[in-house]
Amino acid sequence: MSSQSISSPSTSSPAIRASSNDLTQMPLTRLQGVGPALEKKFATLNIHFVLDLLFHLPFRYQDRTRVTPIAALQVGSDVVIEGRILGNAIVFGRRRSLLVKIQDQSGVANLRFFHFSAAQKSSLAEGKRIRCFGEVKWGRSGIELYHPEYKIIDEQDQFPNTTTLTPIYPSTDGLQQNRLRNTIEQALLLLKQHSNLIDYLPAELNQKFGISNLKDALLYIHQPPRNAQLSQLEDGMHPAQQRLAFEELLAHYLCLRRLRDNAQQEKAPSLKYEPTLISVLIKNLPFELTAAQQRVFSDVSKDLADTKPMLRLVQGDVGSGKTIIAILAALQAVGSAYQVAVMAPTEILAEQHFLNFTELLEGLGIEITFLSGKIKGKKRVEALSLISSGQANIIIGTHALFQDEVLFNRLGLMIIDEQHRFGVHQRLALREKGQAQGESPHQLIMTATPIPRTLMMSAYADLDCSIIDELPPGRSPVNTVLLTENRRPQVIERIQEACSNGRQAYWVCTLIEESELLQCQAAEVTFAHLQQQLKNLQVGLIHGRMKAKEKSEIMNQFKAQKIQLLVATTVIEVGVDVPNASLMIIENPERLGLAQLHQLRGRVGRGSEKSHCLLLYQMPLSNLSKQRLEIMRSSNDGFYIAQKDMEIRGPGEVLGTRQTGLMEHKIANLSRDSHLLESVKTWGERMRDQHPASIGPLIDRWLSVNQQYGKV
Ligand code: ADP
Ligand code: MG
Repeated sequence: MSSQSISSPSTSSPAIRASSNDLTQMPLTRLQGVGPALEKKFATLNIHFVLDLLFHLPFRYQDRTRVTPIAALQVGSDVVIEGRILGNAIVFGRRRSLLVKIQDQSGVANLRFFHFSAAQKSSLAEGKRIRCFGEVKWGRSGIELYHPEYKIIDEQDQFPNTTTLTPIYPSTDGLQQNRLRNTIEQALLLLKQHSNLIDYLPAELNQKFGISNLKDALLYIHQPPRNAQLSQLEDGMHPAQQRLAFEELLAHYLCLRRLRDNAQQEKAPSLKYEPTLISVLIKNLPFELTAAQQRVFSDVSKDLADTKPMLRLVQGDVGSGKTIIAILAALQAVGSAYQVAVMAPTEILAEQHFLNFTELLEGLGIEITFLSGKIKGKKRVEALSLISSGQANIIIGTHALFQDEVLFNRLGLMIIDEQHRFGVHQRLALREKGQAQGESPHQLIMTATPIPRTLMMSAYADLDCSIIDELPPGRSPVNTVLLTENRRPQVIERIQEACSNGRQAYWVCTLIEESELLQCQAAEVTFAHLQQQLKNLQVGLIHGRMKAKEKSEIMNQFKAQKIQLLVATTVIEVGVDVPNASLMIIENPERLGLAQLHQLRGRVGRGSEKSHCLLLYQMPLSNLSKQRLEIMRSSNDGFYIAQKDMEIRGPGEVLGTRQTGLMEHKIANLSRDSHLLESVKTWGERMRDQHPASIGPLIDRWLSVNQQYGKV
């Protein structure tokens, strides 16, 4: 039976002879049994130094410290049992196997081996004492252990040979648990005997978790005593684990705060409120700003007037009117003779902004320039020269705006719309890109859908936030209905009816697998069918594989009501604004995330007319899908939906797959540990006041690997 005891390092062992015992820098090859090949395997687990081994935590434990009476065995648990062999036999079932019957004072159980040798069979002879470790299964002969680890023992045998629970670690192909465990045990020994592992958390904070220090927390998690609460440990809820999760979240928080501090050290132009331009615009608006819009703009306006760069996130539900905030902010910058860059995630959206800005700012003498990948040749040269000469006041486009060839003359403000398409690291890169002549531009970031509070507190701790918590008056919530695929004929009738009343409709084809090509093909097929079935209607098609120019033509026709039914892929997800459209059909909605569905649905319900969204799902539906679609049906509240989406799919998914880097945690789990965030923030601020010297090393400890490998 394996005790996994480490090959007791003597004083001559290379690890111990090490002159430096700084585990942070100590290469793995200083440990016994680790050569270049194993070192590579460790690297795939993101383990590069001995210190990293200490932070590679078990996800499960086995209790090899006590013998369980056979009568008390429970199927599915890992146990040690001990007894006398009653006999063994080869049995022929579906597969030939060796069955060994053993008995203790409480009962009888069987060990089953599918692979065995004759020698093994004879060693397992009647009358011998045996101790085994394995998982309890329910087999043909009752309680069975398949292929247990075992040892034939005599009466003098010492048990247990370990007093701690046995950790099971996350591993990788070709790296065996024993190997991994043995290596980590060497690191733990170094930690116990020699380490100068510094605890950067204030003592008070350790006390809060009832843990004396970092070293003790790590030792406990790797080698919990036999009486530890296994379920609590396996849920990651033991105070020692929570203390580590806390430390990690704190490091991330402090890192974002530091990025913010750095940004705020920079100088930004003071962009003064411009009463003339802004009042002309407000007079021209066909509506009054909501109280929420006024409040949010006043936050933005104050920031812009300051000489520290603004870093503000504007959140608001779909249709809450974020665009007008962007326009007002842009005017304030233009009023101070600075340029504004407005960046949108897609061509369609960039173009919409261009049209909106142009329409609302007409007659104010402001030059608005459009730049995206599709602007080529002479037009591109022209646009670039307008931008660099400073003649262009407002420049609207896609991420093409941030290519090297684009040189701004006096960039005072960057507006990033529908930010969830951009990852944290992209946001950081942009911040640098905008700097010029010793001045940094202000940044206004607008989210497409609300961000759950826990994400706000962790992933966006570097930003100020304003929330538009009110929809413009007169909107009635979209009525959402769930329908099975086979109700298509009724759906066709609904379209017919809506369009003959002068309304317009969207038919959205969702992603098939992760292939844009297949998605577009599906949309083409659906388009052909619908054209057949709705001969009297003008049906249009738009998808991601069409040329930018075709796309904008189709959008314009839809806006001008020349197209009544628009078949689309999810390219219309964000920003598209055609208030006359009051019906949306979404095929296979079960394939999409909730935030994305909400975003799509937000394309209708923009006018005063009652709008409807039909979710046309495929049977059978899993329970989880049912639950999710039910949330969509019952709620129109983006904040609520975002929260649910995160609870169901986890933070990584909600932020989008591109959102890596800063959001990747080694130990913390935002769903499990969100209760810590409030206190992370409080302690983070306290550390900034009272322990500023600990902040740098703490960030390095938790984020240095990312930084080193260019992930941030
Ligand atoms: P989103 O927040 O989703 O980006 P938009 O800025 O596109 O929303 O605005 C949605 C629609 O609401 C647009 O047609 C816009 O003109 C209109 N709108 C914005 N603010 C108001 C308001 N205060 N009153 C009435 N309509 C408004
Ligand atoms: Mg918008």
